[in-house]
Amino acid sequence: MSPVSLPQRILIVENSRSYAGMLSEAIGSTLELPVTLARTLAEADVALTTHPDIFLILSGLVLPDAAENAIIERLSATALPLVLVSSKYDEALRDRVVGRSVVDYVIKSAPGHLDYLVWLVQRLDRNRRIGALIVDDSASSRLMVAELLSSYGFRVLLASDGEQAMAAIELDTGIRLVITDHEMPGMTGIELTAALRDRYSRDRLAIIGISGANKTELVARFLKNGANDFLHKPFSPEEFFCRVSQNVDNLDLIGTLQDLATKDFLTGLSNRRHFFEIAERRLQGLRNARHPLAVAMLDIDHFKKINDTWGHDGGDIALRAVARSLQAQMRPGDILARFGGEEIAVLAGELDVDAARAWFNALREHIGALAIKLPDGRGFSLTISIGVLVAAPESVPLSLHAALNESDRLLYLAKAGGRNRVEISLSPFQESP
Ligand code: GH3
Ligand code: MG
Ligand code: MG
Ligand code: MG
Repeated sequence: MSPVSLPQRILIVENSRSYAGMLSEAIGSTLELPVTLARTLAEADVALTTHPDIFLILSGLVLPDAAENAIIERLSATALPLVLVSSKYDEALRDRVVGRSVVDYVIKSAPGHLDYLVWLVQRLDRNRRIGALIVDDSASSRLMVAELLSSYGFRVLLASDGEQAMAAIELDTGIRLVITDHEMPGMTGIELTAALRDRYSRDRLAIIGISGANKTELVARFLKNGANDFLHKPFSPEEFFCRVSQNVDNLDLIGTLQDLATKDFLTGLSNRRHFFEIAERRLQGLRNARHPLAVAMLDIDHFKKINDTWGHDGGDIALRAVARSLQAQMRPGDILARFGGEEIAVLAGELDVDAARAWFNALREHIGALAIKLPDGRGFSLTISIGVLVAAPESVPLSLHAALNESDRLLYLAKAGGRNRVEISLSPFQESP
């Protein structure tokens, strides 16, 4: 699934230049998100109109041109998530605004508060890619929880019973979090939890039970049936936010651990080992369906020179750009992996020799037309060479390793033939019946 591009910018409204600088540095360097600073409410107003890509506001409560209430009122009117960062702790203010117009109220003097803010920004950013399903038969409870979850950035979906909830998850693979009431007509929350857990593992879906019923055994039953967590009603917005965040943090963590095992760190493409895992299955499928397939090795031309000219970081940027562009051009079922260095393997199904020649040449031309941009504004372009082995359906004894060796040899020919070329051949493994 290609990532949807979301607004990325953070607005920091802060009177103190040094504090704003420190905060923006912490966020900018850790998260690579663009930051805009405003020192007054008037500047914040201007920033909000000139930067339509702002998705989150962090604001102090002492500004030269506005009082506390005016700041909160104006900034919460944007409907963007608002985090207050203050040097004084005002409990009455906190009770009044947190969970309503304000996501969180962070005290500057609290130990580790900068780390907390960086975490918070990252959490609110990532939440936008997570679908959260609320299951409750009471419309008012649904609405209350929906408002909280929306204010944390989640994409919120609603169901009024277990059956609707099951159907919703089936349809929408982006749902990663379910918050369910217990007492509902039809399926109870615990029954729903058990049914969901039966189908969706803990790395795919987090489930949090909620109930106002004052029965202590509910908690254990929810957890034993597969829930990740449980909340008693009523709960404070802060407690709710902490619990929800902890559970989606865990989803991220499990995902990260899986990624570490299967993905290349620099480009996000599959790694070599993962390629062999999934490509073997795909190869088998294509063979059974008697479809032709192509196995290709791609290599960036004169990459050493790119590193020498633009620096190793420039080389990394180029590699990522090439990976992203290739990824965008893959068709469903195609498999792309970084084998190491600047060598990338592709398994593409249902291409005969002519179709493969056209398709890989289109890839090559596309990469050749890429404008690689460096952070300092300079830019360059590059080319790739490709060796492609096309295997006809009848080439039964074709092994993936043998095919890759052959495409590697063809790649070498493409390099020797002048680079920026596709060298293609029909499988020599073909055995006439
Ligand atoms: P050719 O056209 O023959 O492929 O020439 P080349 O310079 O690309 O030669 P080769 O493929 O042998 O060079 C690979 C270079 O890629 C060597 C290494 O320094 C560089 N490299 C490998 N991995 C990385 C990486 O992750 N980042 C960067 N920036 N460079 C890398
Ligand atoms: Mg109920
Ligand atoms: Mg190379
Ligand atoms: Mg190479």
